[in-house]
Amino acid sequence: MAKKKEEKPELKKEENSKTKELKEKLFMKKVNQTLSIDDDEIDSADKFCEDYKVFLDSSKIEREAVKTSVELAKKAGFTEYDPAKKYKAGDKVYVVNRGKAVMFAVIGKHGCKDGVRLSIAHIDSPRLDLKPNPLYETNNLAMFKTHYYGGIKKYQWTVIPLALHGVVALKDGSTIDVCFGEDKNEPCLCITDLLPHLASEQMSKTMGRAFTGEDLNVLVGSRPFKDDSESELVKLNILNILYEKYGMTENDFLSADLELVPAQKTRDVGFDASLIGGYGHDDRVCAYPALKAILDCKTPKNTCITVLTDKEEIGSDGNTGMCSDYMRFFIEDLAQSEGLEVRHVLTKSKCLSADVNAAYDPTYAGVYESNNACYINGGVVITKYTGHGGKYGTSDACAEYMGEIRALLDGENILWQAGELGKVDVGGGGTIAKFVANMNVDVVDLGIPVLSMHAPFEIVSKVDVYMTYRAFKSFFEA
Ligand code: MN
Ligand code: MN
Repeated sequence: MAKKKEEKPELKKEENSKTKELKEKLFMKKVNQTLSIDDDEIDSADKFCEDYKVFLDSSKIEREAVKTSVELAKKAGFTEYDPAKKYKAGDKVYVVNRGKAVMFAVIGKHGCKDGVRLSIAHIDSPRLDLKPNPLYETNNLAMFKTHYYGGIKKYQWTVIPLALHGVVALKDGSTIDVCFGEDKNEPCLCITDLLPHLASEQMSKTMGRAFTGEDLNVLVGSRPFKDDSESELVKLNILNILYEKYGMTENDFLSADLELVPAQKTRDVGFDASLIGGYGHDDRVCAYPALKAILDCKTPKNTCITVLTDKEEIGSDGNTGMCSDYMRFFIEDLAQSEGLEVRHVLTKSKCLSADVNAAYDPTYAGVYESNNACYINGGVVITKYTGHGGKYGTSDACAEYMGEIRALLDGENILWQAGELGKVDVGGGGTIAKFVANMNVDVVDLGIPVLSMHAPFEIVSKVDVYMTYRAFKSFFEA
């Protein structure tokens, strides 16, 4: 039954408009939707993401991301940094650290006397590494033993096509690049799983226990080398193929960085093609906009630096991770060439720590706090702090710096949102922000909301990727 319409007196109407006015003035504006951006900008986002997809497919591991980035940078006029050389405003340089991390800088009109502007993303992603002694034969099948890298749900890495990427270092000092399983005419590798018919015990286990790290064994071959008198012929056949292809023997696995990654290519997702699905968005989806922003950077006021770092997924330890001094050494070189102390430069520096955040997933709504979650198509997400429990293990950005970044994004009309990583005490995570903060630099996390983070096929929104590029660009140009 319909409710009877009541005649509203004139006075009430006036009050309503006052309430509306006050709401307009005081409430947070939640226009966080693609609806609020015009068609041209959506076209720009789609176009930007075509190039990003190419980048992602050619950068499945950190070494490839470094190579691809340096190639793009050279085309944009960047040259290898020489500490002995004097640089002037507008000069573009890069430094590669052990083939697994890279820094790009554009010298500013003021150099580094007022600090540098840093955008830092990571180019390592969760994956399966080969163990130092990986190859074995069992029941006429050749297999690889693996050691997982970063936070994965192990079951997601079974029964999908896998490719092997990385390098093998030989004793003569040379290295062999390996990329096997990507070409559709080439075989791939795969981890097997149990058929449901025999899996009642497996399926009664909790998800975390159904697969152990030692179950992640990769099937790599099954045909024997043609010789009846010897044992381990399937393994021999594989080693023979590897020898013919790469000139390596079994011992050479001991000095290799070989990583198994999903073999599929990046694809658009959705009937409207508004999303991108692919492996390793975390964190190449931030690395690419940060890279593009520095490549497009003309002569900035302050020296601008994009750092693409390694080892974030395992805590940033090691000489190519953010706990290493490699970035500080570079900034020290820049500072000294201007007669400045690095500590004075760092103290005045500002950083966007570029990393992804967990996009609100309505299917798993229970782990998010909807007022403080980030959303697909909400734009670039600013994360004031990450960490776990009572804000442990994080850099909580200062209100003042948050205010500065907020003003910058609003001023440039960039679609952005604030986000927290899930409900309090549900879990947590960290980024490189805290290591940069330890250098006494102003830093906040900024990045892209991701669905199915750390899965072999992660999903992001094209609009969000583009807004992140615009954010870095404005930050450098400010
Ligand atoms: Mn990340
Ligand atoms: Mn991650």
